[in-house]
Amino acid sequence: MSGRWVRRAAQRTEDAAYLAAHGVSRPLSREAQREAERDGTRGGAAPRAGGRLQPGPTGLEDPAVRGEHAAPPKPFSARELKRVYDALLAQHGEQQWWPTAATEGSEQRLEICLGAILTQNTSWRGAATALTNLREAGMLSCAAIVALPEDVLGDLVRPSGHYRVKARKLQSFCGTVIEEHGGDIDALLAGDTETVRARLLRIWGVGPETADAMTLYAGRLPTFVVDAYAYRLFERLGHPPGERRYDVYREYFTRMIGTAEDDVWALNEWHALIVRHGQRICRKTQPLCGECALLDRCPFGQEQAGAKPPRRKVR
Ligand code: SF4
Repeated sequence: MSGRWVRRAAQRTEDAAYLAAHGVSRPLSREAQREAERDGTRGGAAPRAGGRLQPGPTGLEDPAVRGEHAAPPKPFSARELKRVYDALLAQHGEQQWWPTAATEGSEQRLEICLGAILTQNTSWRGAATALTNLREAGMLSCAAIVALPEDVLGDLVRPSGHYRVKARKLQSFCGTVIEEHGGDIDALLAGDTETVRARLLRIWGVGPETADAMTLYAGRLPTFVVDAYAYRLFERLGHPPGERRYDVYREYFTRMIGTAEDDVWALNEWHALIVRHGQRICRKTQPLCGECALLDRCPFGQEQAGAKPPRRKVR
């Protein structure tokens, strides 16, 4: 790459810092090229095979200038994340999840686990009605659920949707509790976060989100429950933790919020507030940005409200 091109690139993007950092009168060293690439091709250059930079013919034709190769968005820092939390808390108040009829003990923990399965791919309202049906039929125990014919159990949990497969998942879960833990839900949830989570993930019908909900709310162990509301909110805010992948989000939020037993409350509230916000304000379609406590830090919402163009393209 020539110094002349670097000068043109810097002018094109009006990035004087880039010019000063890389010099203008000599070709870039290999180390400087790598640094420019790490910067996300600031200065209008687009990477090509071989790791060297190559300019586009004009500013507008250059994908980097158009923003298509812009540096990936940075996740929020701990301080920024705290501001988001404070705004959500001020808007919605403490959530104190998980909603259960039983107030404590093994009965409550079982209810949370069954509820976590029943609420898969459906609203909590349907799952809550299914749980009420089980309770009123006297079937809210592992032994009773395993003993029920599958079609009868399906009828009881029908309000939760996908009722046939959910009946099988409930029986799979309860069967594991009985066969591997003597029917003791506390034994299933005994151990540290990763041990319990791995144990749960081995059960048919329990995926990462369900396992984390059980681990956090029933096991009272520190982990973060990732869901579609979290993806949507942080992508719209322009600061996703990284790729839209369950483990990427879980690792980031658990690390940022806390990994100690004392952090369970905060992890619990974070998840509940994100769900609340996603259901009430940051809706998939027609979000209520004008009512949102996060509008001043949300490029997507500002675009929706017509107040200010977004800083970057939101997926
Ligand atoms: S401003 Fe709109 S898009 Fe942004 S977080 Fe709030 S509701 Fe969601």
